[in-house]
Amino acid sequence: MEQPSRPLLEISGLHTGFDTFDGRVRAVDGVDLEVHAGKTLCVVGESGCGKSVTARSILRLVEDSGSIDAGTITWHGDGAPFDILSLDPRDKRLQRLRGGDIGMIFQEPAASLLQLRTIGAQLIETLRIHTGLDKRAARARAVELLDSVGIPDPQRRIDAYPFQLSGGMCQRAMIAIALCANPSLLIADEPTTALDVTTQARILDLIRSLQAEHRMAVMFITHDLGVVAELADEVAVMYLGRVVERAPVDEIFADPKHPYTKALLASVPVLGRDRRRDLPTIPGAVPNPLHRPSGCSFHPRCAEAIAGKCDVDAPPEVNFGGGRTAECVLYETEGAKA
Ligand code: SF4
Repeated sequence: MEQPSRPLLEISGLHTGFDTFDGRVRAVDGVDLEVHAGKTLCVVGESGCGKSVTARSILRLVEDSGSIDAGTITWHGDGAPFDILSLDPRDKRLQRLRGGDIGMIFQEPAASLLQLRTIGAQLIETLRIHTGLDKRAARARAVELLDSVGIPDPQRRIDAYPFQLSGGMCQRAMIAIALCANPSLLIADEPTTALDVTTQARILDLIRSLQAEHRMAVMFITHDLGVVAELADEVAVMYLGRVVERAPVDEIFADPKHPYTKALLASVPVLGRDRRRDLPTIPGAVPNPLHRPSGCSFHPRCAEAIAGKCDVDAPPEVNFGGGRTAECVLYETEGAKA
């Protein structure tokens, strides 16, 4: 049996919130996660479940109105482990993590690239800071990287400004920047959404080959359960700021435990399914985090909710062993309560 790989990153009790005119929003409400070297953790859930805020909290890139209120994020890189959240903002270790040990592909590449600098300048700068290449070597490497992410005519496009490129090309340029320093951990937030299927397949292949070469860990945020099936070793399902289920990928597809996971999987179109039957959907929408439902926050949408219990008590986190957990009252008598 394969031995579990060491955790590279450990998130424990993470709470991140935002001030709004109506009050404080708890976007991330007690997340525990581990990412292992050489493995891919896919984080899934509807929009507004806290996936992107969790990812941005790792590099402390939370917007101005937000702050990380509690928790630890421990980095177990080559040296002694340290808590990223306790570092001084000017600490060299934080600068080394951003773009060096941890590469991040943002959801909005056009907003994340500097519009008044060419993509080449941004790529070469990151290469020079984190790999020590001289200007000429960094430019040659930048052209190679742009080619590897499928940018046609990279010799010419390297001198283009982001506003001269399509959204898909900006996305690919951002992927090249995130991967340029051979990071130990790649955080990819919906990285292939704007790309056609051929380019998406190319990017996924590139990520897989880097993983095989460098034992790169990947935290991949996506809505696409097809990509999850293809890429993930482990899956974390998030709902309203919490991880409601975690499991190895095969187990989550074969035997989902949490009613939310079951509903997500049931709503995926399957080739050959009876076309006369409507595709199941999850009723309602993710609630406004300012007005969280009492008890289990999924209970107003849950097909298996128990009246008088699920709307009253917060569900226990049940540990099934083998890396499986679920926050649901239905399994109270199974596994061990975490
Ligand atoms: Fe549904 Fe109750 Fe489980 Fe929540 S605790 S997911 S409402 S069955």
